[in-house]
Amino acid sequence: MALLFLPTALLHGSDADLILHNGKIVTVDPGFSVKQAVAVKNGRITAVGDDQAILGTERGPRTKVMNLGGRMVLPGLTDSHLHPYEAGLSELRGPIPRLDSFAAIQEFIREQAAIRPKGEWIIVPRTFPTRLRELAMPTREVLDVATEHPVMFDASYVVVVNTYAIKMCGIDRNTPNPPRGVIVKSENGEPNGILRNAQSLLKGLKPTASFTTGEKLAALEKMLKLYRSAGLTSVGDGAVTDEEFALYEKLRLGSKLPVRVVLTWWVDIARPAEDLIAEIKAAPQAMNSGDDWLKWGAFKVNVDGGMTIGTAYQRQPYGPFGRQLYGQTDPTNRGQLFAPPEKSVEVFRAARDKGWALSAHCQGGGAIDVFLDAMEVLDRERPIAPTRSHLIHASFQSPEAIRRAKRLGVLADVQAEWLYLDGPALEKVFTYEGMRYFFPLRSYIDAGVVAAGGSDHMIGYDRNKAVNPYNPFMGLWTAVTRKTVRGNVVYPEERITREEALRMYTTWAAYLQFAETTRGSIEAGKLADMVVIDRDYLTCPEDQIKDIVPATVIVDGKIFDGGTK
Ligand SMILES: [Zn+2]
Repeated sequence: MALLFLPTALLHGSDADLILHNGKIVTVDPGFSVKQAVAVKNGRITAVGDDQAILGTERGPRTKVMNLGGRMVLPGLTDSHLHPYEAGLSELRGPIPRLDSFAAIQEFIREQAAIRPKGEWIIVPRTFPTRLRELAMPTREVLDVATEHPVMFDASYVVVVNTYAIKMCGIDRNTPNPPRGVIVKSENGEPNGILRNAQSLLKGLKPTASFTTGEKLAALEKMLKLYRSAGLTSVGDGAVTDEEFALYEKLRLGSKLPVRVVLTWWVDIARPAEDLIAEIKAAPQAMNSGDDWLKWGAFKVNVDGGMTIGTAYQRQPYGPFGRQLYGQTDPTNRGQLFAPPEKSVEVFRAARDKGWALSAHCQGGGAIDVFLDAMEVLDRERPIAPTRSHLIHASFQSPEAIRRAKRLGVLADVQAEWLYLDGPALEKVFTYEGMRYFFPLRSYIDAGVVAAGGSDHMIGYDRNKAVNPYNPFMGLWTAVTRKTVRGNVVYPEERITREEALRMYTTWAAYLQFAETTRGSIEAGKLADMVVIDRDYLTCPEDQIKDIVPATVIVDGKIFDGGTK
């Protein structure tokens, strides 16, 4: 056995920086082997094996030796899709209370009204109606508890404003809808406060303008550190602007990035196609450029809106419950496509020609079909599979679309939290049968479609209470159990094994990020990113998976404390 490690020992001079031993090292190598010990030098894993071999051949006079006492080590986990900048700023000025009912929202508004000058905007932090006790979009009347402040309820592509804001912004029954947006009216023809993709009508709203560059930088670093203490060692930023890229670069140049970051270049598909194509051709950033800490990983557009707010573009109408949940007025409404399909093809073609992996926010089934149609057109020109292009979210899948994704070599970047938090409300809109291919992990794996796990974390610091929770062990637990926040199980036939779930957050996520040769598993030669956990992920009672806490997180061979917050 010792002979096996001889070449490594010779190469690395038998003096590891760090050895972890007497543990269960879940390598996630091709055979999913579990070993006892691992050695690290210069930020890389140099050897994995049994205690005797590793301690015998890798230990030198200055090696730090950590006895795991039987504890389990996983590869550092990857979250394929989140929004650390937005989240980092969200609680910088104070904690956000849990907004899970109209009463909690009204309480928040009253408190803000008491401390803010009259006439100043009060913004209710990002909340989705699917997660409110009432299972309904608040109306302007709910927000009218403040009569001397404009109030905005932020549900991302949809917002609700109060009566004061409607008057202040000069919106009335005759105001024309902005391009691609809708001012929703009540039966008497008056605006009811809901603005769908029409935030451009609101005056004096500058959510991040009040933060200094120093605060923005500190917020981003803080959020990335919180990810690290949750067991994440690599993350994919789901939509990066030029301003955010400059902040990331600053952290990288100062060697201050707490975790590895893969950036997604997002453009607004609503802009004129000629402008977008010119920008893509002239862009200084290139696919995969960067280093192991910070690099570009995909080009992204948004094909449709959100299923939590009734703007995801579905294959069928939202039906009667859409009225209560989303404030929809047209029962034949299928949601919203942000660009004509032909335009998406043109823009994607330009990005493909520059070497980008193509990706798209697609929540509804209709949006998934539009993206796959575009990939099919491009695939006829030149195989698309080598680009590792991928669907983002892709919640409402179908067997046909999954087969097509496999044929094209398209991957899926999927979020367990949508099932856990929004499953119960979505079932009311689409019926239980309509949830059959929602977050269909078993179907992806059986079809051979690579699925990467992410959270879409966007608001709040707490790993379990944030919108959306970024605790990777919650995601693993949901993938294995398919349980929702209300305790019911949604289509158990789509459950996957613990091993498969772990691959979603390690090797498969690394593959999606073109990083499978450097990370995702604990194997000699790979980056020394690992997480020591407080119980046995592979054998603990199933419902304890979500309670697993990282005791120690190792990034680039350096040791950090895990933590419960
Ligand atoms: Zn996102």
